[in-house]
Amino acid sequence: MNAQKLSKRLATVAAFVPQNAVVADIGSDHAYLPCYLVNQGVVTTAIAGEVVKGPYDSACHEVQREQLQQQITVRLANGLEAIHAEDGVTAITIAGMGGPLIASILNHYPQGLDGVERLILQPNIHAIAIREWAIDHDFMIVDEAIIKEDGKIYEILVLERGQKPLSELELLLGEKLMAERNDVFVEKWTHEIAQWHTVLKNIEKAEQTAAILAKKQQLLTQIEAVEGVLA
Ligand code: SAM
Repeated sequence: MNAQKLSKRLATVAAFVPQNAVVADIGSDHAYLPCYLVNQGVVTTAIAGEVVKGPYDSACHEVQREQLQQQITVRLANGLEAIHAEDGVTAITIAGMGGPLIASILNHYPQGLDGVERLILQPNIHAIAIREWAIDHDFMIVDEAIIKEDGKIYEILVLERGQKPLSELELLLGEKLMAERNDVFVEKWTHEIAQWHTVLKNIEKAEQTAAILAKKQQLLTQIEAVEGVLA
């Protein structure tokens, strides 16, 4: 992967960035995504934010290598603190982290969201944390994708401002992904169900306290609901 040719995962994130957006890529270890977006003519200016010095240096190096210093500003900053009001950022990408970490980054510096119209988020795990965050912060999921690359499955969630309630099952699975039910989706949730069955088996061996019984019931309900979607 490089700034010319992204991984399938990052290319899917890039495909959701609106033409002529001012984009901030947060956690931008090599700045591949902002460089690609500028090189492809999708955006003319971008911010690359990184909190760790090593990856920040890599991002600076890549931007210099691509000779994009005029278009891309790389900042060493925690989360959305990389975004300054005068940047006029309209879209934020955060990819390659867990859902809860992405949600905590969004919560940590809410000013960074001022003027932002679209969030493109790619949680490696626990996408539910992003959907819950959206509901709590007046964002709604306007698009979603699920892809497989190098044996790993990734979800990409696109949020815009607005309210759209989601059922418990939609929070877990994604409303659009659930309706589409593509092969990758079926593979992901078939695997999850198998893991829940393993947890259930292990739980059987434990002392059957009220908490254990409640956990068992919750897993059984979840398995039944997700199996219902896959059926
Ligand atoms: N976004 C790239 C991708 O998807 O390939 C890099 C993903 S890498 C696994 C996660 C990066 O996010 C790391 O470079 C890490 O230092 C950075 N990161 C983690 N927490 C951050 C935060 N609060 N603010 C900025 N960057 C952060």
